Amino acid sequence: MKRSQLLVPTLKEAPAEAQVVSHILLLRAGMIRKVAAGIYNFLPLGWRAVRKVEQIIREEMNRAGAQEVHMPVVCPAELWQESGRWTKYGPELLRLKDRKDTDFCLGPTHEEVVVAMVRADVRSYRELPLNLYQIQTKFRDEIRPRFGLMRGREFIMKDAYSFDVDQAAAMVAYQKMFDAYGAIFRRCGLEFRAVEADTGNIGGSSSHEFQVLAESGEDLIFACDACTYAANAEKAAVGKRGETTESQSFGDQRRKEKEVVATPGKGKVEEVAAFMGASAREFVKTLIVRVDEFRERSAGKPVAGPRERNGEPDGTEGATHTMLAALCVRGDHEANPVKLKLLLGAGTVELASDEEVTRATHAAVGFAGPVGLDLPVYVDHDAAALETFISGANQTDAHVKNCVWGRDAKPTQVADLRVAAVGDPCPRCADGHLKTHRGIEVGHVFYLGDKYSRAMNAVYQDAGGNDAPFVMGCYGIGVTRTMASAIEQSHDKDGIVWPMSIAPFHVAILPLLSPTGDGAKTAAIADEMERALEARGVEVLVDDRDERPGVKFKDADLIGLPLRVSIGKKTLETGKVEVKWRSQKEAVLMAPEEAVAWIAAEVAKAVEI
Ligand code: ATP
Ligand code: MG
Repeated sequence: MKRSQLLVPTLKEAPAEAQVVSHILLLRAGMIRKVAAGIYNFLPLGWRAVRKVEQIIREEMNRAGAQEVHMPVVCPAELWQESGRWTKYGPELLRLKDRKDTDFCLGPTHEEVVVAMVRADVRSYRELPLNLYQIQTKFRDEIRPRFGLMRGREFIMKDAYSFDVDQAAAMVAYQKMFDAYGAIFRRCGLEFRAVEADTGNIGGSSSHEFQVLAESGEDLIFACDACTYAANAEKAAVGKRGETTESQSFGDQRRKEKEVVATPGKGKVEEVAAFMGASAREFVKTLIVRVDEFRERSAGKPVAGPRERNGEPDGTEGATHTMLAALCVRGDHEANPVKLKLLLGAGTVELASDEEVTRATHAAVGFAGPVGLDLPVYVDHDAAALETFISGANQTDAHVKNCVWGRDAKPTQVADLRVAAVGDPCPRCADGHLKTHRGIEVGHVFYLGDKYSRAMNAVYQDAGGNDAPFVMGCYGIGVTRTMASAIEQSHDKDGIVWPMSIAPFHVAILPLLSPTGDGAKTAAIADEMERALEARGVEVLVDDRDERPGVKFKDADLIGLPLRVSIGKKTLETGKVEVKWRSQKEAVLMAPEEAVAWIAAEVAKAVEI
C-alpha cells in the first residue's frame, strides 16, 4: 500500500483535550477523529488495528467453541422490561422511540436479546452447552466520556454468553473463556493480569477482570510478587500472618484492667495517639455501618449475589432486613465495607449516619469502640490479634485503654475486613507479598447463574423432562479499549510502538531520495521489496510522498509500525537497505532480498498463532 493513497492526516500537536497517551497518539497519527463527545471516526490506519484485534478475538473464541452471531444495536424495551433492567439501568442506557412511539434502547450489552434468542429456539438439554458471541458496536451514555477510546460512549465490544444445564457445566464454560482471554491478550502483545473482581458472594472465582498494566489505568490492582494472585482494590484479600488471629484468652489476670481516659475533642486516631503518646497500631478503630438487605443464611443455599452490575436483576427472593454493626480494624489500617458486605451476603454496607452513630454509641461521632457496645462486632484479623488495645469509649470525649478481646469486648466474627496494603502477605501463596499496579480493564468474565433466564423465563427441558432455567455466563472484551491500551503500554516520546500482531501494517518502507534526483531508483527498490513482501503475506506501507527524509522518519516513528526499511543514497552506493525495529535504536544493513526473507520470518514468528 502506498502512503500517498491512504488517508493518514498526521498532526504535530494533539488537541489540548487529549490527556492520555493513547488518545494523543491516535489523534496525532491520524488514526481516529472525534465526531462528538465519546464518539469517533476510525480512519484507515486506526481501523486496521481494530480489525486485527477483532480477528485475534474471533480466532480464539472460535477455537474455544463459541459461535459468532450478530444482534441488533437497537433493542426493544419490551425485553428490557422483562428482565427488569428498563427501569434499573441508569441514564447510561440511551432510550429512544420509533415513529409508532414504541420504546427502544441502544444496546449497552445484550443479555436480554441473547436470552430471548435462545429461549425461542433452544429447547432441550441436548442442545447445550451453547456459547454465542458477537463483535459489535455498543452504546453507553457515559457521564464522563474521556481518554479517547478508553471510555467512549460508542465503542466496539466482543460480548459472549454461555448457556449450560447447571453451575458445574457453566464453570467449565467460564474456564474456557478465561483461558481464551489469556490467549487473546497474549497474542495482542499485552502485559496483563487476570484479577479477581467483586461478584456479590457467589464465590471467589466467578468474576475476573482482565487488566492491562499501565500507569494511566483507572483501576487499582493488588498483585502478588511471587504467584499469579491478583485482585482489584475492593476485593484484594490479606493473607494471614503467623500471629494469633482469634480473640485472646479470657480475662488474663496479669493484664491491667481497662481504664477510661479523657480525650477532649480528639476523635481521630492520629490525634488521640499523639495525645496519649501511643502509636496508631495500638488502636482499634471502629466504624458504625448500616447493613442493608441483610439475609440470614438459609441452610446450604448460597445467598444470591446482590451486586448491582449494570442494573442486573438481583435474582433474590424473600425478606431482608437492615441492621447496624461495628466494623473494627487496627488504627493504622483502613476498613473495607465491601468485604463485610461479602461476608454477610448483604445488599449494601454503608457508613451509618451521625444520628445512627450517636443512637448506637450514646456518644458523639469519633468515640465509638467495641467495649460495651450493643451491636454485632466484626473484627479484622490484625485488630483481633492485638493483646491489648485502645479504642473509643462510647462516651463523648473519652477513650478506653488496656482493653482485651474476650475480657472487655467480644467479637461477633473475626475475618479479613480491611483494605489490603502494599507489602501485605499474599492470600494464596506462602512467600509472596502484595504490590499495587494501575490497570485498564480490557475484559471481564462473569458467572451469571440463572438471573436473566429466571427473570425472563428462559428454560430448557432437562433429562427428566422438567423445565429448568439456563445457567449463564457473560464475557466481554472492549475491542477499541484493547487497541488503545496497547498504545498506553507501548510507546515512546516519538510515537506509538505497535506490537506486531495488531499493527496496522507490519513494515514501513521509506524510499528517501527526491523524485528530482535519484528518486526513481530508490522508488523502484521500494516497489520491488513491497511486491516480494506482500507475496509472503507481509503488510507493507511505502511512504512514496515527495517529502524530506526527516519528515518521513518522524511520521514513521509516530505511526509506529514495528519494522522500518530505509532506502537512500547509501543503498545506491552499497546495494544495502537499512532495517530497523521501531523499538530499537540500531539499524542493520542488508541486501534487499536478504531483508525480505528476514522480515517475512520475523513477522511470521510474531503473529504466529
Ligand atoms: P468500566 O468499569 O470500565 O465502566 P464495565 O465493567 O462497565 O467497564 P463491562 O460491562 O464489563 O464494562 O463491559 C465489558 C468490556 O467493555 C469492559 O471490560 C471494557 O473493556 C469495555 N468497555 C466498557 N465500557 C466501555 C467504554 N465506555 N468505552 C470503551 N470500552 C468499554
Ligand atoms: Mg466490567
